[in-house]
Amino acid sequence: MTDDNRDEPIFSIDQVSVAYGDLVAVWDASLELRPGSVTALVGRNGAGKTTLISGVCGLLPLRAGTVRLKGDDITTVPAYHRAARGLGVVQEGKRVFRELTVRENLVLGLRAGGARRSAFEGELNALYERFPILGEKRGQPAAALSGGQQQLLAIASALASKPVVLLVDEPSSGLAPVFVDLVFETLESLRDDGIAILLVEQLVEQVLGGIADEVIVMERGRFTLRDAAKNLTVDQVAKGIYAGL
Ligand code: ATP
Repeated sequence: MTDDNRDEPIFSIDQVSVAYGDLVAVWDASLELRPGSVTALVGRNGAGKTTLISGVCGLLPLRAGTVRLKGDDITTVPAYHRAARGLGVVQEGKRVFRELTVRENLVLGLRAGGARRSAFEGELNALYERFPILGEKRGQPAAALSGGQQQLLAIASALASKPVVLLVDEPSSGLAPVFVDLVFETLESLRDDGIAILLVEQLVEQVLGGIADEVIVMERGRFTLRDAAKNLTVDQVAKGIYAGL
C-alpha cells in the first residue's frame, strides 16, 4: 500500500439513517475511512453506535443513505457478500461459533472471504503466526477459550476474509486489562498493514492515547463532535459524550 493510496477514502457512508420500526436510532451519519487509519466512534450506551455498525455491514436495512467500498455502492449488497468484497466486521460481544474449533471458526472466515480450499493451510498458518495462542488452541472448541482469546478469535476470523476495511464494535468490552492491551496492539498492527478501521469504543483514554486518528462522538443517534484525535482531550470527548445527559 503506497502513501498515495492512503489519502483516498476506501470506504464511506453518506447520510445513513437506521430505524427500528418508527424509532430512528441513527440519523444522517456520514464518514470516510482511509487505508491505514483508525476512526473511533465513542458515545454512551444507547447512542446508536452498534445500530450504525449493523446498518453499515448490512445486518439491518438502511432507512436512508449510501455505503461505498472501494468506490462501489454496496448499499444493497447482502451482508454475507460484503466480506468477500473486503468489508470485515467484528460484532459486539465476542461473536464466535462456540461449538466449533478455533480452526473451524477461522475456516468459516476464509470461506466468507472466498479463499480457495488449496490456500486454506497457508492462510491458517499466517493467522496462527499472528495469533500464536490460536495456533496452540486450534483443535479446541471456541467455548473453551477465555473471553480475551475469543475476542482475538473473532478478530482473526474477520481477518481471514482479508478485509481492507474493518468495523470493530467494542472489542475491549468485558476483557481483562492484559487482553485489552493485546486487542489494541493487534488493531494498531492491522492499521499499520493498511487496513481502514472504524472502532467503536468506550475507553476514551485508550482511543486518544495513540490508536485513533479521528474521533467521532455519537449522541442520541447523531454525530455531535468530530475532530482529529490529536486536537482532542479526554475531557473534551467525555464532555461531548455526556453533553446530552
Ligand atoms: P451500547 O454501547 O449499549 O451497545 P449503542 O450506542 O451501541 O449502545 P445501540 O445499541 O445502537 O446503541 O442502540 C441505539 C438505540 O436503538 C437505543 O435507543 C436502543 O434502545 C435502540 N435499539 C437497539 N436495538 C434495538 C432493537 N433490536 N429494537 C428496538 N430498538 C433497539
